[in-house]
Amino acid sequence: MIITLKKETPQQEIDNIIAQLEANGFKVVDMVKDDIHLLGILGETSFLEEQNIGANNWVAAVTRITAPYKKASREFHPQDTIVSVDGIKIGGKEKIVIIGGPCSVENKEQIMTIAEAVALAGAKMLRGGAYKYRTSPYAFQGLESEGITYLVEAKKKYKLPIVSEITTVDKIEEFVANVDVIQVGARNMQNIELLKALGKTNKPIILKRGLSSTVEEWLMSAEYILAEGNSQVILCERGIRTFEKATRNTLDLSVIPLIKKLSHLPIIVDPSHATGHWELVESMSLAAIAAGADGLLIEVHHNPLNALSDGQQSLKLKNFATLIENGRKIARVIGRDI
Ligand code: PEP
Ligand code: MN
Repeated sequence: MIITLKKETPQQEIDNIIAQLEANGFKVVDMVKDDIHLLGILGETSFLEEQNIGANNWVAAVTRITAPYKKASREFHPQDTIVSVDGIKIGGKEKIVIIGGPCSVENKEQIMTIAEAVALAGAKMLRGGAYKYRTSPYAFQGLESEGITYLVEAKKKYKLPIVSEITTVDKIEEFVANVDVIQVGARNMQNIELLKALGKTNKPIILKRGLSSTVEEWLMSAEYILAEGNSQVILCERGIRTFEKATRNTLDLSVIPLIKKLSHLPIIVDPSHATGHWELVESMSLAAIAAGADGLLIEVHHNPLNALSDGQQSLKLKNFATLIENGRKIARVIGRDI
């Protein structure tokens, strides 16, 4: 529920209204837009009567938020959220942020080679999996802490903030200390304990859409992080599971404008996992930019044939650089840039 106060409401009256709501067990978020206070009420508001609240002379309007997610909703927070990572802004109307790197960190030389190329191509952040969430227990599981150490070295050398996937709550300390953006993978989108724990950190979180998750479920997962106090959530569409087997997943591009309507959170697209084939990655990246995505998360490898994971969907270094050049052209057509 949102209570819109009249512009001339004295601060003392605002404080009284908030105190009264808090005394009744609600959490109140006081948002100010064009000098007007909007009070977002969190909690079980179904038994609050609009008429009773509206009886206060200082109340201009009472609006119920119909979506089950509150802090994630555009109604609750009309302005776009912009997540800032070392001065790089994700969200808003200006730049589109490209994040590139291998599916997995394999060894120091590999991540250094790829990081150098990713930086030269104009990407703003480096991705690399250290704790891998593989479908098969026999597949490469990642270098774990050693992988994080190599990412940190690459960050220092090439000045690229790093993104890596966390798989379990017990690794939070390691990630908070070393990683700039913590990725929650598709398989963990509804790991509620992990989401709550990440909500207590002050790190930007990339929240991937679950393999078979609806938009509402995805935004409810974001809500878990936001509800704990961490407002820096970036949504990532990475394809959903459908009957189609010709692509690894089905990229749902329509969620970009839909999320923009329903939520204020930035949304990026991972065309690598969405398609599963490197030949499709550039087209889908350009389409995602045209559709309004705030960024791209792309798998890149200097030697995809010998990659330890996801080589078939990884772009070679040169193709990644071309993608950024072409992406920039599309971005400029829609009044943005890379
Ligand atoms: C990844 O980014 O390497 C990954 C495992 O992605 P997802 O969680 O989307 O499958
Ligand atoms: Mn991968």
